[in-house]
Amino acid sequence: KYMSGKELRRRYLDFFVKNGHLELPSASLIPKDDPSLLMIGAGMAPFKAYFTGKMTPPCTRITTSQRCVRTGDIENVGRTARHHTYFEMLGNFSFGDYFKYDAIKWAWEFLTGELELPKDKLWATIYPDDEEAYKIWTTETDINPEHIVKLEDNFWEIGSGPCGPDSEIFIDLGEERGCGSPTCGVGCDCDRYLEIWNLVFTQFDRTEDGKYNPLVHKNIDTGCGLERLASVLQNKPSNFETDLMFPIIEYASKVANKEYGKDKETDISLKVIADHARSISFMVMDGILPSNEGRGYVLRRLLRRAVRHARMLGIEDKFLAGAVDVVAEIYSGVYDELTNRKDYIKKVISLEEDRFATTLTQGMDLLNAEVEKLKAENKTVLDGEVGFKLYDTYGFPWELTDEILHENHMTLDKEAFDKAMDEQRTRARNARGENKRMDIPDLRDSNIGELKVDETARQAKIVCIWKD
Ligand code: ATP
Ligand code: MG
Ligand code: MG
Ligand code: MG
Repeated sequence: KYMSGKELRRRYLDFFVKNGHLELPSASLIPKDDPSLLMIGAGMAPFKAYFTGKMTPPCTRITTSQRCVRTGDIENVGRTARHHTYFEMLGNFSFGDYFKYDAIKWAWEFLTGELELPKDKLWATIYPDDEEAYKIWTTETDINPEHIVKLEDNFWEIGSGPCGPDSEIFIDLGEERGCGSPTCGVGCDCDRYLEIWNLVFTQFDRTEDGKYNPLVHKNIDTGCGLERLASVLQNKPSNFETDLMFPIIEYASKVANKEYGKDKETDISLKVIADHARSISFMVMDGILPSNEGRGYVLRRLLRRAVRHARMLGIEDKFLAGAVDVVAEIYSGVYDELTNRKDYIKKVISLEEDRFATTLTQGMDLLNAEVEKLKAENKTVLDGEVGFKLYDTYGFPWELTDEILHENHMTLDKEAFDKAMDEQRTRARNARGENKRMDIPDLRDSNIGELKVDETARQAKIVCIWKD
């Protein structure tokens, strides 16, 4: 049964509201009061203080559809059917309220009752020692008991603090999607078994010396990928063909005059552009501006990577502002801020696109010449100084240089690059003293003032003069 991304998001939140949850809007991608995180990458991240007990939640049951950015998955984008740098995580959370029993029962009820997914195609993984979860799966749901797989990996923890076993739900998309390996099964990295939902049962507090003490207040943290579930309900070969992404691919393929689905490398570039267009739109919407540090650098890197892939498709003109229009259209009625700030977002992105467009060709010429030189000399490592020049003069994030080198089976001498970078930093610091900038602007629309390029910053960063 076909279901649009919008309806799916609504159905999920309504289902959990019906079961006593408070629905909250997605938090910003910029973490609040959490210097340990660069960006929100999971539905539970904005609620860390509720899980540890440091703060009291407004309700012991909460449900959200949270915007997430995971740059760790960047290399997978366009190469797997299921990874994005930007995606939405649907989630239901319990802070010392319900536990495993309801979490499993509701997940099953939502997938098989509400969404009517075929039960015989669903699989669940559990932590080997988690007898409780095994019992609930086998007695409270009608999953095929042979589809319950015990995996050592199903334990969620980050250092010390709240942690516990988890249980993941997969859907078997059929042998045709598989890698064909005799060992292919749930947990295989190929596209056959799609992980759609992770249920985390935080029941222990891990001490600094590695002891697991049972928590008095046990919590539930679940994460379900909106785009992945949409691909299943829309019967598409990947997340990229769903209504949450495909209009951007259509837009890019029209600008490039390249048909989608004809050539593997072309498709990868179109998917990268579609993915990065969403990430950068939402990052700018949330108040991030291109720069050479932290979140601003992630934004710059994603944007420049999208521009390079556009060049690979033969797109020479500016195209990103048009992509923002398409993204805003996809989310109309869902994220009003995206529509309200559209002109601002387009302006920021166009300014940055301009800056890179002027140096990209020269930088590519330099890099190509260096690659040829290395090939002739039978070498595979590019000098860090050259990498730094590409960064400093032509605006190539080092990761971009490294990626292009990888395509040629070469690498960047990162140590030498870092050294050049450190020297540059010291020079700059001595020249102008430490300068700290505020990272979280007040984003009321009336505050958005004039945009300009700060040429005094190295490589220039875009600054916004926020009105008082
Ligand atoms: P995978 O093993 O496929 O990389 P994961 O185990 O890293 O996924 P979790 O950290 O468990 O993912 O996140 C919870 C859910 O969020 C996943 O079950 C999936 O539906 C979704 N999700 C995770 N990473 C991505 C991504 N990069 N793009 C789209 N959806 C994602
Ligand atoms: Mg992952
Ligand atoms: Mg996984
Ligand atoms: Mg997982």
